[in-house]
Amino acid sequence: MSKTKTKITVLEGAEMTADGLSYNGAILSPVVEKCEGCERAVPFEDQKFCPSYAQPATKWKHGVCNFATHVRATVDKEGKVKVNPLKASKRAARGR
Ligand code: SF4
Repeated sequence: MSKTKTKITVLEGAEMTADGLSYNGAILSPVVEKCEGCERAVPFEDQKFCPSYAQPATKWKHGVCNFATHVRATVDKEGKVKVNPLKASKRAARGR
């Protein structure tokens, strides 16, 4: 059975409000610096927003974002969390 992934590239129906970007009943905050390179970030006007997580800053506050397509967290021998950038080829393979 084949799985089809639908990647959101346009925040259709999104509307800028005083609180943030209103999209699908949620208020989205702009992505943060650590989201740079993530394929889930979608541009809207002059900012980028994440349809997977409304508050990117909060997501990164608790560690590596588990939805991120550009980095992956691993735990080393001492139990420290390491952030590894994913190579472009691996990212391409994941998108299949
Ligand atoms: S999935 Fe995570 S890393 Fe990617 S844009 Fe959203 S919050 Fe940022």
